[in-house]
Amino acid sequence: MIAAAAAAVAIASCNRIVIDPGHDARANLATEPIGPGSRTRKIKDGGGTRGVVTGTPESVVNLKVSLRVRRLLVRDGYCVTMTRTRETGVSMGNVARARIANRAHAGLFVRLHADGSTDRSRHGTSVLYPAFHRGWTDDVLPASRIAAGRIQRRLVRSLHSRDLGTVARSDITGFNWSNVPVVLAEVGFLTNPREDRLLNSASYQQRAARGLERGIRAFVRPRG
Ligand SMILES: [Zn+2]
Repeated sequence: MIAAAAAAVAIASCNRIVIDPGHDARANLATEPIGPGSRTRKIKDGGGTRGVVTGTPESVVNLKVSLRVRRLLVRDGYCVTMTRTRETGVSMGNVARARIANRAHAGLFVRLHADGSTDRSRHGTSVLYPAFHRGWTDDVLPASRIAAGRIQRRLVRSLHSRDLGTVARSDITGFNWSNVPVVLAEVGFLTNPREDRLLNSASYQQRAARGLERGIRAFVRPRG
């Protein structure tokens, strides 16, 4: 009985990370407000980019890296919630993703994407965080910025990719609806031939996951 009670306490005290693999099998062209109470609406999900050489959809790469991050975090003792674990169909959109993180009282909401550009030479790694907007992001901005810096540093160190820095963004619906610290990692460019091949390799995906895990651990401990 004592052992069972101790186990229950241990489970209750784990910090929860919500991992959000960007996009899904299909785009969702319905619109949603860019922030709570806003009349500005944005498409729920344009569908993301795809590998310029491999043809792999971004959603597939995002999911593969996310599942590797989950495995590492669970091993560390975190509680982990995924916004999706499969290519399930039409993307749920970004308000729904933020609501999953809010409901979970996430210690950190980590959104995983791969970048795209019309310029095939563009490559490297960046981490986005919410720009200041009173009533939307002011409460989560300071912690999000700290998390972004720590994750960016460790991700770049693990990948040996070009460091494109951290970027504050006001136009990300999933940031504006988040009530918990939130970051979005653009791990690499699927429109760059070299990074497309790398992002589709198991070893690079694992290095990305390692870097993300180390960055998350530098921001919030598994238990507390
Ligand atoms: Zn994306």
